[in-house]
Amino acid sequence: MSGHLVILSGPSGVGKDTVIDAWREVNPKVQRVVAYTTRSPRDGETDGRDYHFVTVDEFKALAAEGAFLEHKEVHGNYYATPLRDMEAMLDEGRIAVLKIDVQGALTAMALRPDALTAILLPPSWDVLEQRIRGRGTEDAASINKRLANARAEMEFADRYQHQIVNDDLETVVARLEAVVA
Ligand code: ADP
Repeated sequence: MSGHLVILSGPSGVGKDTVIDAWREVNPKVQRVVAYTTRSPRDGETDGRDYHFVTVDEFKALAAEGAFLEHKEVHGNYYATPLRDMEAMLDEGRIAVLKIDVQGALTAMALRPDALTAILLPPSWDVLEQRIRGRGTEDAASINKRLANARAEMEFADRYQHQIVNDDLETVVARLEAVVA
């Protein structure tokens, strides 16, 4: 049985993790495609949920085996989107959700034209700022950087099949269910 690949983007703090968790609760077929990284886990991050945290040697071995759809280096750390994990989920008939930044998403869309694509939008810039602050993990400079990135990412919103405002969580989940129906 073949499942659905869903590419889900949206600025940091818009609510991607929250939405995926809520969607999973109503649809057990939904499964997150967890990225790989060589950077160290931050406080509160869990291996296998936020990322698969691996060593550089492990990462290189996986890349050589063709385990990744795409990978890149940011500030000396490697990040990758797993192809093999995703294919395994799709073979099991699951809804494989790839939570990925806009640049990675554009690459993934070109490689996987079969993907369903959605971008989450904040109800307003004020709300986005409140959500980023609400997580309590960021200083002012980093919040401003995230907001600037968010504005840049929004320029690509029309490259996605669906633009979904993350206001009411139940409505967002219902829209995602419609996307895969
Ligand atoms: P992301 O994964 O996009 O960085 P998170 O899922 O961590 O964002 O959400 C950022 C913050 O916004 C969290 O505090 C979360 O509880 C809150 N949030 C997410 N979605 C909603 C929503 N629909 N309504 C209200 N608050 C939300």
